[in-house]
Amino acid sequence: MEEATLLTSADTKLVFRSKELVMAICDTCGNDYDKAFTITRGDQSATFDSFECAIHAMAPTCAHCGCRVIGHGTESGGVMYCCANCARGAGDTGAVDRS
Ligand SMILES: [Zn+2]
Ligand SMILES: [Zn+2]
Repeated sequence: MEEATLLTSADTKLVFRSKELVMAICDTCGNDYDKAFTITRGDQSATFDSFECAIHAMAPTCAHCGCRVIGHGTESGGVMYCCANCARGAGDTGAVDRS
């Protein structure tokens, strides 16, 4: 009798936990984290366990040096650069950093 009760509570816990898993799995690395967060951009939304994973999945890449643009960046002719220096390096002589 005691064993059956134990089993039931273990089952309930398992079901609850698997429901939680669905809510908190990082879209980048698959980590199950109870403090995961969701980022929405336009009609796209994704769940991440860390900003590192969010940057990996969502941050644009500088068209000149290839680094991740995690600040404001500079947009020139529809292309993203990490800074005005990179935009100038790619030919936009008039690019200046916004501040
Ligand atoms: Zn992750
Ligand atoms: Zn750059």
